[in-house]
Amino acid sequence: MQTAAIPQHPVETTKIQFDSLGLSEPVLRSIQRLGFAHPTPIQAKVVPVALTGRDLIGLAETGSGKTAAFCLPLAERLTSGQGIAALILSPTREIALQTQAFLDIFGQDHKIRTACLIGGVTMGPQVRALHQNPDIVVATPGRLIDHMERGTAKVGRIHHLVLDEADHMLDMGFMPQVQRILAELPVERQTLMFSATMPPPIERLAQQFMINPVRIDILPDGGAASGISHRLYMVEEDDKKACLLALLGQELGSTLVFIRRKVDAEWLSGMLEREGHPVERIHSNLSQGERTQALQGFREGEHRILVATDIASRGIDVPRVRHIINFEMPETVEDYIHRAGRTARGTAKGIVSTIATWIDKPRVKEIEQTLGEEIPRCTVPGVRPYVELTPRTSLAGGRKNMRVKRR
Ligand code: AMP
Repeated sequence: MQTAAIPQHPVETTKIQFDSLGLSEPVLRSIQRLGFAHPTPIQAKVVPVALTGRDLIGLAETGSGKTAAFCLPLAERLTSGQGIAALILSPTREIALQTQAFLDIFGQDHKIRTACLIGGVTMGPQVRALHQNPDIVVATPGRLIDHMERGTAKVGRIHHLVLDEADHMLDMGFMPQVQRILAELPVERQTLMFSATMPPPIERLAQQFMINPVRIDILPDGGAASGISHRLYMVEEDDKKACLLALLGQELGSTLVFIRRKVDAEWLSGMLEREGHPVERIHSNLSQGERTQALQGFREGEHRILVATDIASRGIDVPRVRHIINFEMPETVEDYIHRAGRTARGTAKGIVSTIATWIDKPRVKEIEQTLGEEIPRCTVPGVRPYVELTPRTSLAGGRKNMRVKRR
């Protein structure tokens, strides 16, 4: 089974002491061993509530310490060696691997065994991990269902359920699978849901799977990480490539370039490679090995640039990403917030540059409404900015200016 190292980066912590949260000595010792001096705000609020056994919805920025916020109370509450007692559902394989890596290190002291069930890799090692009587399963929904159907994963004793990136787990794509899994879990359980965004309809849906949940919201206004500088580059469709190349030349730090479709991710990474950039790509058509390798190479600085579809916009923890470039607008405002959350992790600072054309204007407006601020319009040398046509300018410019470019 592949595992990922726990990435470390500066994160905002409170002045509160871990020993005031109701955790036992052994768990406190492990926290010390991990090098965590004080809880982060989400940990300080979540841990005492989760320890009481109540259901909970936790809303906090990505990179704010959510993994430990649900793992510490889990470690405290479950009795090891009694079958699978806890299930953590994650939307992507990478997030599942990160959670497993945390549990593997943290759980050593407590003899907590974790099995990670993700797609894209062979079943054999996972079946062997399940035979070793794990206490916690971290899984992506599809692969967990495969194991449930084969009878290799028994979920009837799960009394702790965590939905990570819950808004995504409850959206149309995942909902049928999640419902299928939840139908087989005991009704008497504790359910914890975490997300950096939670649109009201999804939150109403979430409430249906929980009993009187406590809502803990420590999102800054607007929902995106606070150390981010947002920039907007309005250009003509044909100038997007030149704009991207100029931006890559301007900001030399580690950069994630988002694009919507897998085939376009292939095309874009090939193009950047030909332009001499150290680049890798990640999307769901690649094997799990290739995805892990791409992420690892990016994390370790082997490739400064990672071209990604939205598969990488959620939960992935890569420290020191300096620059996010939206080569294409995300489909929803929530996706914008998630993409943006890949930079300015913890207390770090970062830039989110969005390359947009006239067709994206309604989405830009929506994003600005959510952020509560206008995104500064910026330009790069050598690329004509898109000029808004008003009746006056179009008259002055004659027929040529009135032509509207379509994709
Ligand atoms: P997460 O939001 O769970 O992905 O955590 C983000 C990062 O913060 C990870 O690198 C964690 O190792 C780190 N982290 C989490 N909690 C603490 C803490 N209390 N003190 C210091 N670092 C932390």
